[in-house]
Amino acid sequence: MVSFENFEFLKQLVETPSPSGFEQPVQRLIRQQLAHVADHLETDIMGNLIAFLKGDGGPKVMLAGHCDEIGFMIQFVDENGFIYFGAIGGVDPHLSPGQRVTIHTDQGEIAGVIGKKAIHLIDSKDRDTVIKLKKQYIDIGCTSREEVEKIVSIGDPVTFAVGLQALQGQRVTARAFDDKMGAFIVTEVMKQIRRGGGISADLYGVSTVQEEVGLRGGTTSCYGVNPDVGIVVEVTHATDCPDVEQNGIGRVALGKGPVIARGANINPPLFSLLVDTAKAENIPVQIIGVPRATGTDANVMQLSRGGVATALLGIPLRYMHTPVETLDLFDLEMAIKLLCAALVKIDGHSSFIPV
Ligand SMILES: [Zn+2]
Repeated sequence: MVSFENFEFLKQLVETPSPSGFEQPVQRLIRQQLAHVADHLETDIMGNLIAFLKGDGGPKVMLAGHCDEIGFMIQFVDENGFIYFGAIGGVDPHLSPGQRVTIHTDQGEIAGVIGKKAIHLIDSKDRDTVIKLKKQYIDIGCTSREEVEKIVSIGDPVTFAVGLQALQGQRVTARAFDDKMGAFIVTEVMKQIRRGGGISADLYGVSTVQEEVGLRGGTTSCYGVNPDVGIVVEVTHATDCPDVEQNGIGRVALGKGPVIARGANINPPLFSLLVDTAKAENIPVQIIGVPRATGTDANVMQLSRGGVATALLGIPLRYMHTPVETLDLFDLEMAIKLLCAALVKIDGHSSFIPV
């Protein structure tokens, strides 16, 4: 089971705002957790948080989970005090009308709602059309531009005003599990490796930034760390709900263990190490084939410098990029267990050259 203490940390992570480019409130939480764990802890110029655990002669291994989330950004205030915004990352414009949001200003949080014309007032031919994001607006209760501009600044980030909630069993829902639960797993693995007395490999746990706007923090942090081996922890689409087709993705269910990707983006010996470790440790895993570049930090990691032996560990997630992303805590727990068991096996004799 994910312990109560860890669960509280996960909850804090997903509830603390970190739209791409504004990640430091979440990085501060992770820094606190790792302050007495890492041999060295640093934030780079992009805002990536890099925790280091010294090994004894093994290769350099980098774990990465991105801590940024999708959101909105304030761009324009009209004369009546309605606030227009753009998307930070891949926000679905279906979702936002009629929702509560929080604007994160320098002075603190401001509550708002995204306006939505009443159904009574919509022409029947328009009822099924999506309202373009640039037509949507936030209402914070002000009546003039001057009033708004006293409290809200152009460029302020915005998130949906929802937190984490437990569903039945070990299932939980929140905004932004993508990919703060990846940063959570990396943090927990660093703690457990430290508790276990360390490993042969030099281990870098990186909470990357700006993934949702083009894999940007993963690109620079991987170049900076210059690892031999890298494992990215990310959410992956679950296909066990009524409106998602399994053909094209594969069988991915909540609660059946983490997902190991296979394909050109993945180093074959590293893939085998993960699969063999899962088998040896009786850890349930699911395998998906990804015939192209994955849309994750694993893509830029693999292509960094002269190439990095890269793997992608996915956590099954329903309703990605919505305020009701849903996952099963069992999969997180198994991912932590699998990573710890696999990392122990990497030493100076490991070769990841495909043969
Ligand atoms: Zn992600």
